[in-house]
Amino acid sequence: MREDYIYINKKLYYSTVLAVIIMMVAGLLIDNPQLERVSAGYFFHFILVIVASVCLLLYPKYLTRSFRIILTIVASVYFYTLFFLYPDTWSTFIFLCFVPAVAILFFDAKIFYFSLLLNNVCIILIFVYIGLFDQGYLQVYLKRDLIGNVINFIGSQAIICFIFYISYGRIEKQQLYYEQIQQAERLKTTGQLAAAVAHEIRNPLTVVKGFLQLYEKNILPSDQSQKRHFSLMIEELNTAEEVVSQLLSIAKPSKDTEVEIVDVRAALQSVTELLHSYGLLNENKIEINKVEACYIAANNMEIKQLLVNIIKNAIEASKTGDSVTLTAKRKKDFVEIKVMDQGRGMSAEEIKSLGTPFYSLKSKGTGLGMMICYNIAAKYKGSIDFQSSKDKGTTVTISFPEQKL
Ligand code: ADP
Ligand code: MG
Repeated sequence: MREDYIYINKKLYYSTVLAVIIMMVAGLLIDNPQLERVSAGYFFHFILVIVASVCLLLYPKYLTRSFRIILTIVASVYFYTLFFLYPDTWSTFIFLCFVPAVAILFFDAKIFYFSLLLNNVCIILIFVYIGLFDQGYLQVYLKRDLIGNVINFIGSQAIICFIFYISYGRIEKQQLYYEQIQQAERLKTTGQLAAAVAHEIRNPLTVVKGFLQLYEKNILPSDQSQKRHFSLMIEELNTAEEVVSQLLSIAKPSKDTEVEIVDVRAALQSVTELLHSYGLLNENKIEINKVEACYIAANNMEIKQLLVNIIKNAIEASKTGDSVTLTAKRKKDFVEIKVMDQGRGMSAEEIKSLGTPFYSLKSKGTGLGMMICYNIAAKYKGSIDFQSSKDKGTTVTISFPEQKL
């Protein structure tokens, strides 16, 4: 479902961009007054159409803030060029009023205010120039009713700010809601794992307690044995400590989601250790098989959360005694992680529903795990694919762009 969603958006984006490019080229070629005598201005317009088209086409590949700022500046330069180059086309002034509307689409407050400020400074300079120096030579219609046009411009900026305020507020709320759901799902997962982990911690505690009881009763073994006992106790406590810290590593609140270099092998190892006791509840083993040294640029905790969700699903789908197998390898410029189970499998219809909020076939499921996984994968330009057949098992392929060291 999530894949379809991205697909439709991309299709919509590229068809809109294609329409925009066609309109820009049409403006360049059809009935253009500059065509009578090709000037430097026309050449500049031509170059700008190419630059703007390339930027729009490349944008989905570089969803970075710097690229958004570049797009905002290119759009401003493009519309201001049209304004100066075609003074008889009065509608170019409308474009100038709505230049910051381009920045609204990025839902980034800083870029929007930057674009608004830039546009206002440029417009003030234009009005001053027209009022004091131009004398109606360049923009006759603006000069004729300067005050009216200034009021129109202020009105348009107010409308843009209002639209931005409403849409940005909504997006922020949605983001907050998503973060809360992610946190709630994490707590639920942690709660489920905690029961299994508690079981795991009981063994080391029993061992340590047993030794301490011996010492309490003054049954003092030889020096040699004492040393061995202490190192055994420390070893057991280390195991318990490790299990607890693994559990905490996915339970932390999602505030610090900075991008770091994630060692895939270490992440798989750590998640496997964490889920080891959960698997034991139904005698399911998690086997790490063929894992190459590979790295991805993402947030460590989010990648762990994604792996925990998917491996936990695999365990829950498995029959008693079956194993879940993990592999990781580099493939072209991507890191490909596979999670394989021989469990209940899914029909094509069920696979389509994955990622839909609250879709779950389990009595105690939340149906949020896969939605969160798809979101995390999309955030780091990764993908999750399912291959499954009913009652035979499922292979989940998670792929992320490789981070070369
Ligand atoms: P939850 O685990 O809380 O039910 P998820 O979003 O993690 O929610 O999973 C949604 C549903 O997808 C599960 O209820 C299950 O029916 C199905 N599913 C996910 N992974 C597998 C798998 N490896 N094998 C079979 N079914 C799966
Ligand atoms: Mg799940």
